[in-house]
Parts: sequence; structure tokens; C-alpha cells
Amino acid sequence: MAQSLDSATRQALQARVRFYRDLGLTEFYRRPVNQELLIGLAAGPDEPESAPQSYQLPETEIESQPEFQEEQPISPRRPFPNAPAVADAVPAAERAAAMQLIREELGECTRCALHKGRNKLVFGDGSPTARLMFVGEGPGADEDSQGLPFVGKAGQLLNNMIAAMGLKREEVYIANVVKCRPPNNRVPEPEEGATCSPFLFRQIDVVRPEVLVALGATAATWLLGTRQPLAGLRGRVHRVRGTKLIVTYHPAYLLRDPRQKKEAWADLQIAMRELGLKLPVKG
Ligand code: URA
Repeated sequence: MAQSLDSATRQALQARVRFYRDLGLTEFYRRPVNQELLIGLAAGPDEPESAPQSYQLPETEIESQPEFQEEQPISPRRPFPNAPAVADAVPAAERAAAMQLIREELGECTRCALHKGRNKLVFGDGSPTARLMFVGEGPGADEDSQGLPFVGKAGQLLNNMIAAMGLKREEVYIANVVKCRPPNNRVPEPEEGATCSPFLFRQIDVVRPEVLVALGATAATWLLGTRQPLAGLRGRVHRVRGTKLIVTYHPAYLLRDPRQKKEAWADLQIAMRELGLKLPVKG
């Protein structure tokens, strides 16, 4: 007999189905689901059970997101710095400790001006042995107050994207180009990116993911070391630090223009193919 769902679970499911529809996935199968999974879904993959219905993205809240321009220029005031040499591989069992060392070296960082407006430094989140790593631009207000990357509205969408790939947030690693929130969520200045990105490169070298996904133009620019329109970077596999790199839209941009979710899903499917993950069968 059909079970009735509590309203949090129903809303979470509706939001997820809407997300899949946006991605062009319209065929759904009904199968019995165990209750524990439903509880996990209502709470969100990275949040305690008591969390509000994090997958619900009401239109009004989406509208109130700060304007996110996907093609923000990065001013060429300084020549683009070379990325540091790729570090030696760290055995899987030692990666958590290696990551902790990087965190300790960052300390209460004052290397650039961004520290002045910071509440919490946002180092990174997830598994240091992840096969897949996402790189964003820099913390927003929610991340700055919690000290974790992608925990605001854009983070909820990223969680959905990860779930659509058949993965859990805890299975991937997530970090940003800069670790402190730029004022008013502006694009990091070249000096800020140049100061902070070496720590990102070291995190990448520790995780050594099979696939990196650059979320948006800023991440793509700093990872690739070149400034190119996002459109020309999407849809193919790049090589960065011995790792495959896929470039896609930033979730904050997708919140502004949900029509591009289908394009982002196509990019994520390239990442899935490279990881050998099962692709959804088209109906
Ligand atoms: N946007 C980003 O680029 N990174 C975050 O952590 C949150 C929002």
C-alpha cells in the first residue's frame, strides 16, 4: 500500500524531480524505497536531519540571489602566475593528514586583504581520497558564516547535481579558488587568486582526483591558467595537474538562468563518462 510522505520529504522529492526535469530527464520509475533513504533525502546529503527542506528553492529566494555573471572578466593587471609544480602523490591513507597540514599552514591567514572581511576561512570539504573534485570561485555569505564551501542556495543546487550523478556529497571533494569571502561576492582580484590558489593546487595534488570540475569562469581561469570564454572551454576534457578537467557553469549562474541546467548536465555526463559512472538511459 502506498505510504504517505511527510511534507518535508514530499517537498524535497518534488524539488529533486523538478531538477531532473530541468536536466531533460523525464522518465521515472517507481520502486519501493527504504525509509532511511527517505529521511536522508529530506535532510539533504550533508545536513543533519533537523535541517530545513534544503532542496526547496522557491522562486523568490532565487530572485534575491546576487547577480552572478558567468563571464566576469578577470582584470589583467598582473601577468597570470604559473601554477606550482605538481607535488608527489600522497598514499590514500595519508591524504587526510596531508590535507590537515595544508590547513595548518594556512592558519589564520592574513596573506591578502580578503581576510579583513572574513568570519570563517573556508578551506574545503569532502573526502581527501575522492575520485571527483569540484572547484568554485570563493565563499559567499553562508559559507563565510559556516566555514564550509557551497552550503547556501548554490550549494543546494550543487548537492542536487552531485546526487544526479549518483554520488554523495561526502564522496567528492569541494574547494574554491579563494578561501575567504570577497566583499559583496565580487570576483577575486588577481592578487587574491594568485596568493590563495597555490593552496588549492596543493589540495588538488593531495586528492589527485581522476576528474576535476571547474564551476564557472573564475575556477576555469585559475585552473587552466588562461582566460578564455566559458563556451569555448565546455564540452571537452582538459588536462590540469595530471588530472582530467571538465568546465561547466557555476551553480549560482544556473540559479539565475535555469535553462542552462541542461547544458551543465551534459558537462556532468562527460565527467561521469570519464569516471566510468553509469549514465542515465534516455527514455
Ligand atoms: N560559490 C562559490 O564559488 N563557492 C562557494 O563555496 C559558494 C558559492
